[in-house]
Amino acid sequence: MSVNNISQPDKEIVVGIDLGTTNSLVAFLKEGRPVVLQSREGRALLPSVVSFVSGHPEVGFKAKKNKVRDVQHTVFSVKRLLGRDFSDLKAIAKDLPFELVSGDGVIKIRVDNSEYSVIEISAMILKELKRTAEEALNCSVTKAVITVPAYFNDSQRQATRAAGRIAGFDVLRIINEPTAASLAYGLDQKKQGLIAVYDLGGGTFDVSILRLKEGIFEVLATNGDTRLGGDDLDLALARVFALEIQNKTGVDPFLNPVFQAALLEAAEAAKVELSEKESCQISVQLGPDHYQRVVTIQEFEKLIAPILDRTSEPCLAALRDAGIEAKDLTDVVLVGGPTRLDAVQNQAQTVFHRIPNVSMHPDEVVAQGAAIQADILSGNNSQLLLLDVVPLSLGIETYGGILSPLIDRNTRIPALAKEIFTTFMDYQTAVDIHVLQGEREKVEDNRSLARFKFPVHPAVAGTARVEVKFLVDADGILQVSARDLRTGAEQTVEVSPSYGLTEAEIQAILKASAENAPKDAAYRQWVAVKNDAEPALRAAEKKLPDAFRLLSEGEVKVIEGCILGLKTAIHSESPTEIQNSLYSLNESTKKLADLLLKEVLSTNSRR
Ligand code: AMP
Repeated sequence: MSVNNISQPDKEIVVGIDLGTTNSLVAFLKEGRPVVLQSREGRALLPSVVSFVSGHPEVGFKAKKNKVRDVQHTVFSVKRLLGRDFSDLKAIAKDLPFELVSGDGVIKIRVDNSEYSVIEISAMILKELKRTAEEALNCSVTKAVITVPAYFNDSQRQATRAAGRIAGFDVLRIINEPTAASLAYGLDQKKQGLIAVYDLGGGTFDVSILRLKEGIFEVLATNGDTRLGGDDLDLALARVFALEIQNKTGVDPFLNPVFQAALLEAAEAAKVELSEKESCQISVQLGPDHYQRVVTIQEFEKLIAPILDRTSEPCLAALRDAGIEAKDLTDVVLVGGPTRLDAVQNQAQTVFHRIPNVSMHPDEVVAQGAAIQADILSGNNSQLLLLDVVPLSLGIETYGGILSPLIDRNTRIPALAKEIFTTFMDYQTAVDIHVLQGEREKVEDNRSLARFKFPVHPAVAGTARVEVKFLVDADGILQVSARDLRTGAEQTVEVSPSYGLTEAEIQAILKASAENAPKDAAYRQWVAVKNDAEPALRAAEKKLPDAFRLLSEGEVKVIEGCILGLKTAIHSESPTEIQNSLYSLNESTKKLADLLLKEVLSTNSRR
C-alpha cells in the first residue's frame, strides 16, 4: 500500500528505508500497517540515480531520464560500490560508465571537475527519501531503519549508516533485506520456520536462507549473482528488436547510444506490461524511423528462460550451505520487480518445490518490513518484536582471570542481567570491573570492552556485596552499572559491544571457543580450586602463631609442610594436585581448629 499527504502524526515517526541498487523506497507504519510514502508526483519508487547534468544534483526519475541523454553526468548503481575500497574496484566497476577515482583508497566518482564519494551519492538518495517522507507526513523525519543485503560486510553496513547520517538521519538500525521481507509477510508470527528469500532486482539476484526460531531471524546462507536482474531481461528483448532493425536497415541501432537506450526503455515497458497481459505492442521512434511490433508472452518467456535458469544454481548452493533441502523450507518469499512475472514465480517454485508467497508488492515488501522494524524501535509498538540477539557473550572478569558471563550469546535484545559479586581481599577499597565479550574462559582470550574501578565500602573479604547490572538496549549498546548494596553508591558506563567486529570476526571467535572448549574447561576448574585454596592458605598462615602455642613441634612442622605443598600445587596448574594439597592442609589443621574453638568457647563461658 502507498500513501501520500498523511496528516501530521502525534507520535515520533521512524521510517523504514529500502536503499536499493535500482530503486529506493521509504515507508512507515500507519495504524499498525506498513505503507510506502509517495513523492509529490505520486510515485513510491525513487530511482537510485543521481545526475549532475544541470550542475547541481538531481535524484530520481529526472536523473534516470538523464541516464539516457547524458550518461557522463549520471551516476547509478552506487550500492555496488558502497563500503568497498579502491582495490575491490576491478571486479565491480566494469558495467559502470562513470569515472571512478581513488581518494585516499576510497572510491570516488568524478563528474566534470568535482569528485563525490559513494557515501555522499548514497546520502543524496537518502536525502531525497527524507524529503519525500517529510512532505508526505508533514513533519520532520529524523530517524530511520535502513536495509542492506544480508551479505553486506561490516564496512558496507558502516558506509550505509554513514550515508544515512549525512542525509540527516539518526540511523536506529541497519537490517537485512531478506529479514525485512520476511517481517513484512508476518512470518515472525509463526515463531519457527525455514525461509528462502528469492530477490531478483534490476541488476542483482540475491537468495538468502533464513531460520526463524522463537521469532528471531538468523541468516543461514546467502548466494546470488551480482550481474543478473531485470535489466538482463530488457537487454535480451532489446537485442531482438535491434537484430530485426539491423536486418531491415543494415545498421545495428545499438551502435547509437541514444537508440540503444530507447530500445531498452521500450523493452522494459514491454516486460512490465507482460507481467499482466498476454501480449503488448511496442512503438519506438529512432531518428526518422519508426519501429513497432507486438510481443507475446510465449515469445518473451522463451527468450528469458535461459536467463532465469541462472538463478537456480545460487539457490541450490544456498540450500547446500544452509545444510537443508528444499523440502525443509516452510516459506518462499519473492522480492523485486521482476518477480511479478509468472515465469520468475515458476522458476522459484521449481527450484524450491514450494509455491512462493506473492501476496505483497514485491518492490515494496523490503521497505515495509523496515517500517515494521522502525516502529518497534520507536517504542510505539507495545507488542515488542525481538529481532536481534547478542552475537557474543558479555560478562566480567572475576577472581583468577576468568570470564564470568552475565548475558549469554544469542540472548535476544534488549536484555538485562544482574549478578552480585563480592570482594576477595580483606578491606578492599575498590573492585576492578572489567567488561568483556567472548566465549572463552580466560580473560585474555576474550575481547576487552571497558574497565572501571568501582569504590566499595571496606570490609572483610567476602562480605561486600556489589551488584553488577548489564543492560543491552535495542541498538545493541551495552550499559554496565555497579552498585554497592551496602551504601547504595552506583556507577554506570556505556560500551558498544559489537562495534568494529565483523561477522567474520564473530565467527572466528566462536570457532576458537569451540576448539578450545576442553582446554578452557580445565582452566576454569583450575581457577575454581585455586580460588578455594588461596583463602585456606592465607587462613592457615595467619594461624601459625597459634599453632606454635598450642601444638607440638612435630605437628607444626606438618602444617608448615602442607602450606608449602599447597603453595607449590597452586603453581603447578594441576587442579587435582591443588585439591589433594588442600585436603592435606585441612587435615593437618583440624586439631588446631578444634583447640582454637575450645579456647573461644571456654572464654565465652567464663564471661
Ligand atoms: P527492484 O530492484 O526491485 O526495484 O526492481 C527493478 C526491476 O524490476 C527493473 O528491472 C524493473 O524493470 C523491474 N520491474 C518493475 N516492475 C515490473 C513488472 N511489473 N514486471 C516485471 N518487471 C518489473
